[in-house]
Amino acid sequence: MEFKYVPTTCPYCGTGCGFNLVVKDKKVVGVQPWQRNPVNEGKLCPKGNYAWEFINSPDRLTKPLIKKDGKFVEASWDEAYKLIAQKFKSYKGEEMACLASARVSNEENYLMQKFARAVLKTPNIDHCARLCHASTVVGLAGAFGSGAMTQSIADIAESKCLLVIGTNTFEQHPLIGRRIMQAKMNGAKIIYADPRLTPTGKIADLHLQFYSGTDVALLNCFMQLILKNGWENKDFIKNRTKDFEKVKEVVMKDTYSPENVSKITGVPAEDIIKAAEWFGKSGQSAVLYSMGITQHTTGVDNVKSVANLQMLTGNLGRPGTGICALRGQNNVQGACDMGALANVYSGYQSVLVPEMKKKMEDAWGCQIAEGKVGLTVTTLINTLADEPGKVKCVYIMGENPMLSDPDLHHVEKGLKNAEFIVVQDIFLTETAQLADVVLPATCFAEKDGTQTSTERRVQKWRKAQDPPGEARADWKIICELGAAMGYEKQFPYKSAEEIFNEIARVTPSYGGMTYARLEKPEALHWPCPTAEHPGTPILHKEKFSHPDGLGIFTPIEWKAQAEVPDKEYPFLLTTGRCIWHWHTGSMTRRSPSLEREEPTGWVEINPEDAKALGIADKEMLKVSSRRGDIKIGARVTKTIKKGVVFIPFHFIECAANILTINALDPVAKIPEFKACACKIEKI
Ligand code: SF4
Repeated sequence: MEFKYVPTTCPYCGTGCGFNLVVKDKKVVGVQPWQRNPVNEGKLCPKGNYAWEFINSPDRLTKPLIKKDGKFVEASWDEAYKLIAQKFKSYKGEEMACLASARVSNEENYLMQKFARAVLKTPNIDHCARLCHASTVVGLAGAFGSGAMTQSIADIAESKCLLVIGTNTFEQHPLIGRRIMQAKMNGAKIIYADPRLTPTGKIADLHLQFYSGTDVALLNCFMQLILKNGWENKDFIKNRTKDFEKVKEVVMKDTYSPENVSKITGVPAEDIIKAAEWFGKSGQSAVLYSMGITQHTTGVDNVKSVANLQMLTGNLGRPGTGICALRGQNNVQGACDMGALANVYSGYQSVLVPEMKKKMEDAWGCQIAEGKVGLTVTTLINTLADEPGKVKCVYIMGENPMLSDPDLHHVEKGLKNAEFIVVQDIFLTETAQLADVVLPATCFAEKDGTQTSTERRVQKWRKAQDPPGEARADWKIICELGAAMGYEKQFPYKSAEEIFNEIARVTPSYGGMTYARLEKPEALHWPCPTAEHPGTPILHKEKFSHPDGLGIFTPIEWKAQAEVPDKEYPFLLTTGRCIWHWHTGSMTRRSPSLEREEPTGWVEINPEDAKALGIADKEMLKVSSRRGDIKIGARVTKTIKKGVVFIPFHFIECAANILTINALDPVAKIPEFKACACKIEKI
């Protein structure tokens, strides 16, 4: 019996764990630890262990599908390309929009934004980073000149104090959670700030159980206490930053005294004081955060507050310090790096700078879309729903807005308003079901390519098996569509490596990378601008990435969320994920081992709230918001704060996003998934 072992990376979270896919008779039959991978050192979480199970699911798409009289009919690739090209050519540039994907490779994201800008001539290109860390990209870029996680994952273990805020790391990035445990075993204090007492919080030295949406108040109070006690890093503030006085003026206000912030956040004042002291005095403190910080109408404010705290205490650019913005999907960092965003080309080169547009036109050998910021995932859905006829055609690669986006009834209305939708995916997702043409794509195990993890580590994917039926790699589909549109010259690639070489030529932070250099298990962290450069695990060691090298403080006042609980909708709803499933469940719900562990959703409710409503554990409830209602089973638990309820968003049969609010951060355009008002009724 012959087995083959193909090293690659996990298709789920942004940690970027490496493993071997086990291949027998040309099919992937398992996952085996890859001990030499430095990220996870041979260890995997449940999702990683079962990451092979969906690959050969009988539900995989194997042929192009064209909708005729409301039903999908199998078609040839030529038929599908001919129809798509004819339709695409019938629209003006800005009547079309493309969604790239954090689930596909860097090469494929790069090609999708090139296809949008060079072939369709539309500035409307974006992807699901808009739903998870758009606030990080904007907030950290504003403060430091670079919108990415500042440290490496391994470095977390070096910290002496960790503020873990708005992230359930043990369940959502378990192999990063391992580094939190290593820090704790090395003597670090762990402060956990979250409305839920998750498994991550259970190992913390202090749990600040604050109301969702009060992050800025809590962080400003930390800064006030640090300043009052003289724990700030005066040299760092003086030599490496500017505009500190503006922040000082705000955080020293009485509004942010521990007593007042205790009233806003619901956290005892003495706990805030203790946490600020641990953090301010350690000399080596880091912040880990995830969507609890970013998914708010104040997402950018929250991120900038974290940046303020780290500049105030000088906790940047050294081992054990920094800001670990834990990205969600495996390649969400890479999709951003590749320019699959409405405002930048690859390497965060602004579409508003004429020289950048000219650079891309020269590299691609054609005119491209006007240099303006396009529609984002969220503003695209709003435009489709609320301004019918403005956008008529949408090309979606590997995204599932019909379960992932806020206010699903609104999303459905928007997508149904489109005249022509193409979806390219591996399964017939909820969104694909609304498409006019569905193209069968390959999964991570069926192609070569690269992905960039949350710590900016660019790693290889290696093909382990052939795709099912007639499915094709996303990069090949885009090239063939480009040719069908008359752009063969712009899409001449014979391999993913050829695309990567073009990426390196036009993207300064990837400029020194080649497939040969990425072969080694440790791969390379960007920025890696030259062939000799060793990569950069820790950013901002001597200077920040702004032209003057200085970090910028921004004064931030606390603002409440867009929708505050009231008499009619008295509970604060927050949403998130569980350890067994991934995002919209298209892969994990087709993994029997994972689906068995968590076959449906639930609503977490505090025992005091449950008692007041006469609700028993596991009882079926109706949860409603101003957007809609769902039926879902109760999970009565002391781990959730009184007055707050939690629902995971993976499950179509009780979709949390029917309830969530389509209120956006004004700058990052990220929705407020983490706070809206709802009510609960017995049924
Ligand atoms: Fe995969 Fe993330 Fe689990 Fe690692 S921690 S095995 S990358 S899901």
